[in-house]
Amino acid sequence: VKTLGILGGGQLAQMLALAALPLGVRVVVLEPDAQAPARLCAEHLHAPYTDPVGLNELAACEAVTLEFENVPVDALAALRGRAPVRPSADLLARSKHRAREKQALREAGADTAPFVVIDSAPELQGALKQVGGRGILKTSELGYDGKGQARVSSDFELGQAWEAMQGVPCVLEGFVNFEREVSLAVARTPEGQVAFGPLVENVHRDGILRTSVYPANVPDGTEEKAREMARNVAEHWGLEGLMTLEFFQLPGGELLVNEVAPRVHNSGHLTQDGGGISQFEAQVRAVLGMPLTDWKPLHPCAMVNYVGVDDAEPDWAGIDALEGTRVHLYHKAHRHGRKLGHVNLVAPDVATLRERLVKLESLIP
Ligand code: ATP
Ligand code: MG
Ligand code: MG
Repeated sequence: VKTLGILGGGQLAQMLALAALPLGVRVVVLEPDAQAPARLCAEHLHAPYTDPVGLNELAACEAVTLEFENVPVDALAALRGRAPVRPSADLLARSKHRAREKQALREAGADTAPFVVIDSAPELQGALKQVGGRGILKTSELGYDGKGQARVSSDFELGQAWEAMQGVPCVLEGFVNFEREVSLAVARTPEGQVAFGPLVENVHRDGILRTSVYPANVPDGTEEKAREMARNVAEHWGLEGLMTLEFFQLPGGELLVNEVAPRVHNSGHLTQDGGGISQFEAQVRAVLGMPLTDWKPLHPCAMVNYVGVDDAEPDWAGIDALEGTRVHLYHKAHRHGRKLGHVNLVAPDVATLRERLVKLESLIP
């Protein structure tokens, strides 16, 4: 029996563990919070396969992977030379730091929005003009779900935004008038075999992913372009495991990489119920060097996030009554703006998917 270590115990770890189990893979999770989804999941299952463990037990794993990029540096240091961490500490160091990530994307030949690295106040000078007069200031570290970001369209606003962020290292990005957002996951085994997930279309609300749809409604050739960029980045960065690229698709069809997650991604959750291999199984396979092919839903499908809203609950009975839905909950305490679960939706054809999706979205506040 192979054992896979997972750094972090959130919902992504929960879903990775649930995908690993039928492959005959034992899972151990490193997670200090007893209320974290992957730990609660183990408790609810009364399952011995996942448990809060120490670094020694993790070091005995075939391989260690992760479900979030902000893995403590000392955990990575303690594993060095003992168990392979996939993706590597080097790759993580890039992808968790926006400025380094964007530079490394450019080095790998991927296109990004124009950006200026802002590490200190003098660098604000002329920065907005350089990115096109309108931009988004983003903290280089620890931002997610649009947190740590401010839209700015004047030097005055930029100065204010920088002060509000208390002068931490930032990136100022040019504002992109995109046609739509899409994402694509790429996996690479330690032997260098590359496989891709589906191209998925994403809609955000208040900086948080609201809906993902497969297939993406994109011009011909877009998926090939996305795959080529993803392959280049994966090979250039020496990926072992799985990572997901978020793209802006411009009106002319070009793609810019927005950011990279070194792991499964919220936009890939629809692969759980699309009939093919899920992104979670793909990550497990890639990390352990098991046989891996492209993974794609067999049917049109979509996902709607369930994000906490004060005084409002989804209409669960209505959701269950709607054909093609499947509910996934994370066992997290209700908090406004927090991702608490998602609902996947499948349909026999794109037109039916659209109809059902309109209904599903109306049932989730
Ligand atoms: P997460 O990691 O949860 O995806 P994040 O906090 O890292 O989110 P981004 O992905 O950088 O944030 O931005 C969130 C959303 O804000 C994007 O998906 C996009 O809708 C919008 N956005 C971000 N950067 C730009 C940009 N340069 N131009 C226009 N819109 C943008
Ligand atoms: Mg991000
Ligand atoms: Mg993002």
